[in-house]
Amino acid sequence: MTHPRQRASDHKGQPITASKSSPSAADFQPEQYTEDLLAGYYDGVIGLDVSAHITLINKTACQITGWTQTEALQQPLHRIFKFVDTLQAKTCQEMISDIINNGQILGPIKNHQIQLRNGTILNIDFSISPLDEQTAILMFHEADHENSKQKNPLLYQFSHDSLTRLANRDTLQRAMHHLHNEFQQQGKAYSILLLDVDRFKLVNDNFGHQAGDQLLQLLAERMQHFIRSKDNIGRWGGEEFLCLLPDADHETACLIAQRLVQGIADQPFLLNQQKIHISASIGIASYPRDGDDPEQLLRVADNTLYHAKQNGRNRIHSTKQLTENIFSVGTQLENALNENRIIAVYQPIFDLMTGEQVAEEALARIQDENGELIPANDFIDAAVELQMVHRIDHQVIRTMVTRCYESFSQSKTSCPHFVNISADLLRHPQLVKDIIDFARSTCNEKCEQKQCEKKPFVIEITEQELLGEVDEVKKLLAPFIEFGMPLAIDDFGSGYSSLSYLADLPISYLKFDGSLIKRVAFEERARKIITGIQRMAESLELVTIAEHIENQQTLDALREIGVSWGQGYFSARPAE
Ligand code: GH3
Ligand code: MG
Ligand code: MG
Repeated sequence: MTHPRQRASDHKGQPITASKSSPSAADFQPEQYTEDLLAGYYDGVIGLDVSAHITLINKTACQITGWTQTEALQQPLHRIFKFVDTLQAKTCQEMISDIINNGQILGPIKNHQIQLRNGTILNIDFSISPLDEQTAILMFHEADHENSKQKNPLLYQFSHDSLTRLANRDTLQRAMHHLHNEFQQQGKAYSILLLDVDRFKLVNDNFGHQAGDQLLQLLAERMQHFIRSKDNIGRWGGEEFLCLLPDADHETACLIAQRLVQGIADQPFLLNQQKIHISASIGIASYPRDGDDPEQLLRVADNTLYHAKQNGRNRIHSTKQLTENIFSVGTQLENALNENRIIAVYQPIFDLMTGEQVAEEALARIQDENGELIPANDFIDAAVELQMVHRIDHQVIRTMVTRCYESFSQSKTSCPHFVNISADLLRHPQLVKDIIDFARSTCNEKCEQKQCEKKPFVIEITEQELLGEVDEVKKLLAPFIEFGMPLAIDDFGSGYSSLSYLADLPISYLKFDGSLIKRVAFEERARKIITGIQRMAESLELVTIAEHIENQQTLDALREIGVSWGQGYFSARPAE
């Protein structure tokens, strides 16, 4: 598959046409001329004034250079690209003004190297012709790839990675400095993505190193489909790639990164008639929000990539969560944890058919020094970033266990109490053990039916936290399962589902993703998805739960579909 930037070279063999075939100066009508050029030429065409500023640029030239028409107009040519060896030791401006003033055509020149703003070195065939007293026309196309490699083997080798044919680390570093200088000068945003293939070692181990190599080649090719024509991906090293995104603020960078992650994981790679599924993780850093210079941005990208891996791989990660006040939230959290001010509030869960309360969910809150409750949204991102979630989980679960057995021993009913656990908690087996020991001793002390098989205490884990090998996840959850705590899968349908978890884990409850629920009454497709999941859950004898029920229409729609239980502000807000 061809990179969008390279499409112009499909028309190899097209001769470079000098001013002969261009309209004469006498009929020159700027708009009409531009139109004709835009429509008619397979070559890149750039109009330049005496000071070498761009007065027109056609589509092909945009595709080759990675600039849009609007961006490029009025810019000096050397911004768009640089001639690698200065032609006749003249500046670009001198060269153009000579051509216009002397009325002489320069070229055709074959296989000359230019450097694009993303650092890529490109070989072009070009000519520059005077059009009238104010304008020169530069016409060019990409020179034959193989030919350019033969002619400049050393430069090609130095700037490209031989396996993937992408820019190599040196070129990327140069390009990044280039990009930085340009965007810093203009005061505009740009971003970088650092992509690392997940568990690539396994590919080598299972299919051999050669297959691994081929896979990297296929991957390099596939990634080109998910970036914009002005972006540039190169090989940073091993199975790591760096992507430079000019003109991309943080949001745009996240969108492109997400597209890459999905594009890699959605379809298997075909290697020797074998389908290989892989995924990748991406760390994002944006200028100026994440740093003032390329080195700092690379450190941030490396750090966010690490977090993407930590959080389960096959995902993107950015500093979005690192709000400016992260450290003050961190201090507040630390104090709250030490002073037992992490408390639980409880949101009732109702049977959607009968309207009876059938369960409740514990939700974490910080109680500040004045007794005010701070909602989880205000601290959870900082807690994730500072790796404090396991401590929050630990406190909330202990509170929940106490409440659960108190209410159980009072009412003698086994209304399930739901509580969230994070992957972060599962990574702290000592805390998990403490929770189970605490639950067991509370159970022995307070509960008459000590041996009851299923505890009235459900642990919820989000679909996204469940990423990983089923066997590994099973091992991590084993202490809870063995103690008799039923499992609920949370945020089901949020996009990372692996249905095999439903087959392989002893899941009893399935909670729909809240964003789907919010749309169920208003969007046919959301309704159909929920209906589909509901039917599957019924056949697996799972109880389904809808969160975020905020109005009557949503409630009605869910009842009609047959969703078992529900919770949300429409019925009841969480309370202490
Ligand atoms: P993760 O990044 O998800 O933590 O796991 P990983 O297995 O991808 O990570 P790790 O960095 O441990 O391993 C990277 C592997 O990539 C090890 C190395 O052999 C392989 N690798 C690096 N460069 C190449 C290459 O050019 N060809 C092949 N076939 N393998 C490569
Ligand atoms: Mg790696
Ligand atoms: Mg890797």
